[in-house]
This record gives sequence, structure tokens and C-alpha cells, in this order.
Amino acid sequence: MNNSKIYLSSPHMGGTEQSYVNEAFDTNWIAPLGPNVEGFEKDLESYLGNQNHVAALSSGTAALHLALILLGVERGDEVICQSMTFSASANPIVYQGATPIFVDSEPETWNICPNYLEEAIKDRIAKGKKPKAIITVHLYGMPYKVDEIKKISEKYGIPIVEDSAEALGSSYKGQKCGTFGDISILSFNGNKIITTSGGGALVSRNLKHKEKAIFLATQARDNAPHYQHSEIGYNYRLSNISAGIGRGQMEVLDKHIGLRRRMNQFYQDIFRKSMGVKVFSEPNPDYFSNHWLSCILVDKNICGFSSEDFRLAMAENNIESRPLWKPMHLQPVFKNAPYYGSDISEKLFEIGLCLPSGSNLINKEKVKINDVLIRFIDI
Ligand SMILES: *Cc1c(COP(=O)(O)O)cnc(C)c1O
Repeated sequence: MNNSKIYLSSPHMGGTEQSYVNEAFDTNWIAPLGPNVEGFEKDLESYLGNQNHVAALSSGTAALHLALILLGVERGDEVICQSMTFSASANPIVYQGATPIFVDSEPETWNICPNYLEEAIKDRIAKGKKPKAIITVHLYGMPYKVDEIKKISEKYGIPIVEDSAEALGSSYKGQKCGTFGDISILSFNGNKIITTSGGGALVSRNLKHKEKAIFLATQARDNAPHYQHSEIGYNYRLSNISAGIGRGQMEVLDKHIGLRRRMNQFYQDIFRKSMGVKVFSEPNPDYFSNHWLSCILVDKNICGFSSEDFRLAMAENNIESRPLWKPMHLQPVFKNAPYYGSDISEKLFEIGLCLPSGSNLINKEKVKINDVLIRFIDI
């Protein structure tokens, strides 16, 4: 990677990753199975707690796809999904031949709005189809309104697929994100809070979910000496090499969360006295964000410049920044999907910006970021 460029979020190795990978080479476990895969799953299980079971998979997207299959989502079904998210939250709905129903965000956590969610469920039921699942997301590591969403899920008997790809290490009322769904998923892509270079996991308190996920992820082979198949399978298991990286990363996860949270504090300090710029932070002490990415909202009417002005100034200095996730209901590929809500997520997209947030940013880089940003603050 280009050393002089400052990235939003780049891989940050702790140091022991390579020894797990070397061990895999030394023992010739170069396959999508082996001791690192099981070791990584155990590490995640003890980190998440609450008697959860973890299946290590090739990506977060694969985990979402298997979650929908485990919940019986089929052609013609409808699945509700938070609109403001990365496309990978919604794509697996279409892999299954089902229809995504998008729901707006609320302004406190930027995640799925309980009111619009209930409106969507009622209207879909009135139109003749009860949604099969609700995909919720903890955007940028910020927990969604867990209690309110869970209440609605229980009231209507619709299971939750919790997309915790960005929120490993975040918690709500002391309980870890990744443990709130009927099925939850994690991602270990290169830009996430920990990485296995590419990877993901499916999480559930139901051991059968883990077993079935691994069965489907390894080509759905029946128990026979020959290759026998009664179901369509996938090649979605995590490799033993990648899992080795994951084991090393688990040793530094909490330290890296501390560093990401300090980056958030760094931006709060910069913008403390700026009226028009707000740094995204927890609404109250029930919420604990890993601050995977630190984001700001820029109100041009108050400060006289826009998030795009910030972005261009950063780019000029070889510093990466990026608008927030563009809501799915505004994406050309989903233009025909039903949508429930108003313009909350659309407004966030218009005035929001993600800033460099990596746990590996050094002092010199922070000084450079600070120098660019303070030009916009006149105090
Ligand atoms: C990264 C991400 C995913 C997908 O994970 P991959 O491991 O890249 O497939 C899904 N949802 C959200 C919200 C993400 O940020």
C-alpha cells in the first residue's frame, strides 16, 4: 500500500499473526479447515460470550447469505433491510430471489428507525406478505436501538439478522454487538476493525445454526464415503491461513478499539468549538461504539462550507475521506424496491463524511489531518 497516503481504515497487524500462519505452513494445514479455524471460532465465542456459537466463513456477505438460507428465505419472499448501509447487507436478499424492503434511519444512531420499521411490517402484512426477516446494521460501529427493534421483532414474530460487520467490540447495555440477532454476522475484510485479509463469521446461540452453516459452507456433503448431495452447497468456509491471521488479531482487538475511540476523541477535540460540524458519537451511556469509522455532519448553513469542501481539501493533501453510505433505496440497482421512511438517511448522506480512523495512524499523520481540518474552523 502507498505509504504516504492516509487511509480511512487500513489493516493493522498486532505482531503474532505470522506465527499462527507459519504454524499452518509447518503443519501443512493449508486448507479451508484446520486448527486455526477452530481456534479462531473459539476466540470469537469467548469474546462475544452469552453462549454464542461461531462459524468462520469466507466473508461477511457469505455469512449474510447463509443466515437468510437458515431462516428459510426463498424466491418470492420479502426481507426488510436498513436502507442506510453497505450494499452487502442487501445483496444476499436478491441472491435468494427475494425482494428487499428498505427502511429509513433514525437520527440518533443513524440505524433502522423503529417507527418506520413497524409501519413497513404492518403495510407489507396488509398487502398480503409477512416479511421473512429484518436485517439490522450497527453503522460505523454504533449500536442500533436494540431494545426497541427487538420488541417489534418479537411482536410480529419476524427474526432479526444482525449485520455486525462494522461493530465487533461495540456493545449495548453491556452486551456485545454480534449477539443480538436470531442470527448475527461479522466481517473481517481488510478495512474492518480486525482483518483476516478477507473473511466473516455467522453467530448464533443455536448450535444447529452453526452446524448447518458449516455444512452449507463446505458444499453440503451428506455423510457418505462417496460424494453425495441432497442440498445445494456453497464454498464459503474460511481458510486455515486466514483464520491464523484472525487469531493474532483477536489478541489486539480491544487495544485497537481503544485506539479507534481515541481517534474519535481526536476529532471531537478539533471540532469542539465549531458550531456547524458535529462528530458522530454515542447518544447515551447505554451505547458503546468501537468507532470503526469516525464521521462528521457538516451543516453548510451554519459554517459556510460543505462536507464536499472538506473531502476535496483532504484529497488535495493525499488524505482519504468519503461520504457516508449512500442509502440503498437511492441506488439504481434497487430503484424498484419498496421503501418506508422520509429523508433522514438521505440527509445524512448529503452532509456526512467519514474521516481517517485507523488504529495505526501515527502522530505525524494526525498532525497533518489536524492542519487540514482546522483551516475550516474560525475561532
Ligand atoms: C463490510 C460489510 C459487509 C460485508 O462484509 P464482507 O466481509 O466484506 O463480505 C456487510 N455489511 C456491512 C455493513 C459491512 O460494512
